[in-house]
Amino acid sequence: MTQEPYAFFRVVQGYLERAAKAVDLPNDVSVMLSEPKTELIVHFPVRMDDGRLQMFTGYRIQHNNLLGPYKGGIRYHPDVNLDEVKALAALMTWKCALMDIPFGGAKGAVHCDPKALSETERMRLTRRFTHALVGSIGPDHDIPAPDIGTGPQEMAWILDTYMNAVDAKQKNAQLAVVTGKPVACGGSQGRVKATGQGVVYCLGEWSHDHKMDFGDCRAIVQGFGNVGAHAALILDALGTRIVAVNDHSGSIHNDQGLNTEALVRHVQQTGGVAGFAESETISRDQFFSTPADFFIPAALENQICEHEAKLLNVKVVAEGANGPTSPAGESILEQRGIDVIPDLLANAGGVTVSYYEWLQNRRMERWTLQEVDAKLHTIMARTYHRVRDLANERNVPKRVAAYGLALRNLSDCYAARGIFP
Ligand code: NAD
Repeated sequence: MTQEPYAFFRVVQGYLERAAKAVDLPNDVSVMLSEPKTELIVHFPVRMDDGRLQMFTGYRIQHNNLLGPYKGGIRYHPDVNLDEVKALAALMTWKCALMDIPFGGAKGAVHCDPKALSETERMRLTRRFTHALVGSIGPDHDIPAPDIGTGPQEMAWILDTYMNAVDAKQKNAQLAVVTGKPVACGGSQGRVKATGQGVVYCLGEWSHDHKMDFGDCRAIVQGFGNVGAHAALILDALGTRIVAVNDHSGSIHNDQGLNTEALVRHVQQTGGVAGFAESETISRDQFFSTPADFFIPAALENQICEHEAKLLNVKVVAEGANGPTSPAGESILEQRGIDVIPDLLANAGGVTVSYYEWLQNRRMERWTLQEVDAKLHTIMARTYHRVRDLANERNVPKRVAAYGLALRNLSDCYAARGIFP
């Protein structure tokens, strides 16, 4: 199960140390990045609907900005803690460096249960949190985006609050302060589905290498929020049967393939996958044991531990979530010959289209969905090939190869610029 203590930031550092050896680089960069540049913790009051004032705690961790402005999502979840936000911020540094996107790494979070808040409470919380961050974020400095528990609506509130906090004449220059906005207020076509779409582009390359066709494949998906649901919808449309789904409410199964569009409507109405009519309820263990070709974890970190890794009956894990596989889980997957497309590659579609949104905002352009998807497809396929080729050349897992490529990018930049002073 998931009880093992999980020092997420330490886990990410461990991958770096292994990657530095794999690509023959001195450990200097991983030493330099062993702590984030800035850790901001804010406490702020929010007026609740019943008139009470409640204090909330928020975080913004700015890990590194060597390659460009800090970039990373904002998570609303009752279990967030500093170590988790630090790890997620570091992952963003490595992800942007791997994808060769000119951004650094950051992450934010508010310790809250968004499901227990009304829409007006979420709006007041988001605006007040943004107010606390105004001096620390900005289109050229640090650019938030959605993560667990936040979406386009929260991004629109962040944008509006930020725009109203700056000089009135500068308002319209601030559009790029946040990405993942609704298209109506400067968002990009294709951003909402981008992370799930990127997962599927990676699986497409993997399947091509393994001479498999989406039409003959089965998939299981953990998490049916933004990432999980979009990955499932896209795969379903390509002919892959989505045979089991697990989320915070339970696990469901249908051997003929779940109707993913109907499941999206069910989740919108009830809040979770449990009780979906065209399915049978199964246990969490049965979910992990369901035979399939692909497993897409798209919920929280530390979900595939030793126990789950022994249960899995799939050919490849494509990490939609950040950090879903623990090191213990990973070594069992390695022993069992289950391939892993690591998070910093598999879920990079989100930050990639966030970058496209930022570019459109800065250039005052609007790109079509076809343009966005075509660019995303090209960069995902190219990066998948670079990771796969290095993994084969050095005989290391794809995760180590992905960190190795990211490390080379940062290391080359540090080598050229030197370390101040
Ligand atoms: P979301 O809030 O839209 O969905 C989260 C899902 O996780 C929900 O279906 C929820 O039921 C499920 N979940 C929560 N607790 C669970 C538990 N204990 N067991 C099983 N399922 C549980 O969030 P999201 O944006 O889809 O993010 C999911 C993951 O993808 C996170 O790790 C996030 O960091 C990562 N990610 C998201 C994006 C993005 O663009 N949204 C980009 C890159 C990576």
